[in-house]
Amino acid sequence: MRNFKEKLTSFMYGRYGIDQLYYASFVAFFIVTIFNTIIGSSFLNFLVWVILIWMIFRTLSRNIYKRRMENEKFMRIWNPIKAKGSLNIRRIKEMKTHRFRRCPHCKTVLRLPRKSGKHTVKCPTCKQEFKVRVML
Ligand SMILES: [Zn+2]
Repeated sequence: MRNFKEKLTSFMYGRYGIDQLYYASFVAFFIVTIFNTIIGSSFLNFLVWVILIWMIFRTLSRNIYKRRMENEKFMRIWNPIKAKGSLNIRRIKEMKTHRFRRCPHCKTVLRLPRKSGKHTVKCPTCKQEFKVRVML
């Protein structure tokens, strides 16, 4: 007699399993479900099922290469969004002590001490100077 965990392991052998796209789909599934309890749309109800079936299909898929490609595509879209989000969180957290300005020459975001007035800043990345005005 094999226990459940062993059965599951042998069942999942050679199958794709869980990745970042799986977690993202789960979050999407959750948000749409909650949203749909308020508006009760039959289209959203259908969409919830599509997401759920897609999640299960990907997890159990034996085409590991294709699933990995899907996840990579997703990460290429998701990573810049995540980076932008964490920068914005940092901006808010350090609002009292620092200002963030983009270098007009190389587009690098610089973290500057909060000193009101006009300043000349030298970008550490491209070594070019530019003027910055900090209001408060
Ligand atoms: Zn620069």
